[in-house]
Amino acid sequence: MQKAIFIDRDGVINSDVGHYYIYKPEDFILNEGIIDSLKAFKKAGFMLIVISNQGGVDKGQYSCEDVEKVHLKMRNLLTEVGITLDEIYYCPHHNDVQKCLCRKPLNLNIEKAISRFDIDRTQSWMIGDSLRDIAAGEASGLKTLKIESNVDIRPFVDRIVK
Ligand SMILES: [Mg+2]
Ligand SMILES: [Zn+2]
Repeated sequence: MQKAIFIDRDGVINSDVGHYYIYKPEDFILNEGIIDSLKAFKKAGFMLIVISNQGGVDKGQYSCEDVEKVHLKMRNLLTEVGITLDEIYYCPHHNDVQKCLCRKPLNLNIEKAISRFDIDRTQSWMIGDSLRDIAAGEASGLKTLKIESNVDIRPFVDRIVK
């Protein structure tokens, strides 16, 4: 079995200061300390799996193609520094438009990853800046770390990497 860090995108990996939705590559800016933190997780043997709500798609504010462009930028910025994201799952739905099981606080996307990669829940974490992230992690039996939006998460890494 593998262990994984499930991690929210906006407000954790990248800054969402001044934006409700991030859907333009130029607005995607990595948060302070995230590179070192992700490197430390990888070094400790964790898979890195992004779990993101992108309800702006259902609301018609941007498209899945926009999401993919932002994800390409995220992958490229991280690849440049030697970090490979193992998978990115996002929910394009919004409760105002259609109900689904993959929008956090629901946990279908986490469960898909657990099943696909044979992940040990008891050794894995969900890191997020919203209570929805934490609820989704708890629903899948993960350990959780709630941070304030856009903080440097380096001070929390030791709690996870022991
Ligand atoms: Mg967030
Ligand atoms: Zn969904």
